[in-house]
Amino acid sequence: MIICRDLEDRVNLLEKINEKLTYLQWVTAQSAGEQDIQTIYNILINGFEQICGLPKCVFFGFRDGTYQPLIVKNEAVDNVPVFCEAVEKALDYARRERVAQVGDMREEGFCSPECGKCAGTGLQLCALYESTGNLFGVLCAYGENDIAYPDKWLTVLEFFSMQAGLVLENALLNQKLRGLSNTDALTGLYNHRYFYEQIKKVFKNNCSGRKYTTLVMLDVDNFKSYNDSYGHPEGDGVIKKIACVMEGVIGDKGIACRYGGEEYAVIMPGVPLEEGVETAWRICRAVENCGGFKRKVTISAGVASSRNNNNLQDLIQSADSALYKAKARGKNRVCVE
Ligand code: GH3
Ligand code: MG
Ligand code: MG
Repeated sequence: MIICRDLEDRVNLLEKINEKLTYLQWVTAQSAGEQDIQTIYNILINGFEQICGLPKCVFFGFRDGTYQPLIVKNEAVDNVPVFCEAVEKALDYARRERVAQVGDMREEGFCSPECGKCAGTGLQLCALYESTGNLFGVLCAYGENDIAYPDKWLTVLEFFSMQAGLVLENALLNQKLRGLSNTDALTGLYNHRYFYEQIKKVFKNNCSGRKYTTLVMLDVDNFKSYNDSYGHPEGDGVIKKIACVMEGVIGDKGIACRYGGEEYAVIMPGVPLEEGVETAWRICRAVENCGGFKRKVTISAGVASSRNNNNLQDLIQSADSALYKAKARGKNRVCVE
């Protein structure tokens, strides 16, 4: 244990604390504006290691009453080193206290005298809470020596706990909001806004990578009459079911979006026109045969590729014209412009 005996020790301690608080500011500055949750976890874990001055760290997520290692610095998640099952006791301790340190897992009674794994392992622990009181998890930095600091040190960990909890809460909330703003509420498909965002991105990437993007536009046939006959709630059910059928056909080959009312669009990055046409036909057949509607429902599709369209406007226009062609030629079919 480091014990604060005289002025020199106090100055040293203050300097140390000042250095740690600088790391804390670094963590806040790094994570401000960062959108990717994985990057945020990494910033938190790196910051916590620096603050504790320990080389190893695990973030144990807390869900349904159990701890799961979510991120392990420099190790695979399924290969959490050092700890025996008794680590849970130490995590519970940190959960209750918010922050904690354990000088030696065995000597402080967290694991049994026979434990060969944790003996001589010291921990610095910091629980991260949501403002509602819900626990995200516990950061656990560890080392092989006695690493207990004076009790005042816990104040620094408390700062970290509050700051990191806030950072994580904001990041998760932003992630949730981004998800909601990209998703169509009825079908769960991506919405019109996301469609434009993605197709712009994909088109740009494809241009620089000399790959092509195929776009499929789809529209439910005679849908107005379906609504007129069975009512809008039944019509909504059709829109929803078709979205589900489409996703089943497309798998991970494309990005399925609800373009508007009863219109859908599928962006297929790196997929040639012929394969896009084949996928569109499979969607048409799957909708025609899926059943569960008040009457037979069909859908028409138009397909275009960036190979024959130099800019995004042309690509969308071509897929749209192809869809009109499919309608004009009798519906329940696929056309290419
Ligand atoms: P076509 O085969 O030419 O596409 O004929 P259509 O009747 O489907 O024609 P149109 O595309 O003009 O009609 C679209 C209809 O879709 C009109 C509108 O009432 C209905 N619709 C649009 N959005 C929704 C929705 O969210 N729910 C329901 N139930 N109906 C919708
Ligand atoms: Mg329409
Ligand atoms: Mg229609």
